[in-house]
Amino acid sequence: MPGSRPIRSAAAVAALIAATSAAAACGGGDTEEPTSSATPPTATAPTGAPSAAPSPEPAEQGFQAEVKKVTREDLPHSWRQGCPVPPSGLRMIEMTYWGMDDKPHTGGRLVVNAKAADDLVGVFRKLYDAKYPIERMEPVDKYKGDDFDSIDANNTSAFNCRRATGSSSFSQHAYGLAIDINPCQNPYVYADGRIAHPQCAKYKNRDRKAPGMIHAGDKVVRAFDSIGWGWGGEWTGAKDYQHFSSTGR
Ligand SMILES: [Zn+2]
Repeated sequence: MPGSRPIRSAAAVAALIAATSAAAACGGGDTEEPTSSATPPTATAPTGAPSAAPSPEPAEQGFQAEVKKVTREDLPHSWRQGCPVPPSGLRMIEMTYWGMDDKPHTGGRLVVNAKAADDLVGVFRKLYDAKYPIERMEPVDKYKGDDFDSIDANNTSAFNCRRATGSSSFSQHAYGLAIDINPCQNPYVYADGRIAHPQCAKYKNRDRKAPGMIHAGDKVVRAFDSIGWGWGGEWTGAKDYQHFSSTGR
């Protein structure tokens, strides 16, 4: 960059000199042309500058993911003594994701079981490549570990050391082996048809086709099926359309 400025000012000086003996408009054009062709740096500098300092656009770079270790301090609300997997058995996947605004987003964070992390990176790469939109992706600790609040924010999340809905045993989420995706567009529907989040009631109708909705056999279900994970939309009785897990439960 610094190299182009002296050359340009030299051209400007030449233009000024030419302007003293010729018409300004004509002289300026005449002096600029030989200057730029005689000194290639002026031609390469402007085109080199934008490519030398590109903003890291995920759209251009495609899907990016990094698997990181987590500590207990990273999980102040979602982990506690007595949980079935220690923090050392969990990982944070930091990744790009495709947003509801039809644009790439950086900074998605998902806490999962260490053994499943690489497989899940592959799944989310497929979802990104398919431009399957996700509203947000934050650890439930942002919601103090409160599943209801996380769902209320339509947050996509995985690890949370909690009991299964309507059960005393640990959920697959407590192992980091379950993921809830766009929980508003894909609600948990009780066997009697109730759903807990009224603003998402319209998505009880699974004939709808809205961005983020998951349907039997679609690219989302297939992506998880490719790593052997089952879908809660296939349960009988209560259905959990947001839920994928390694056991299918
Ligand atoms: Zn779930």
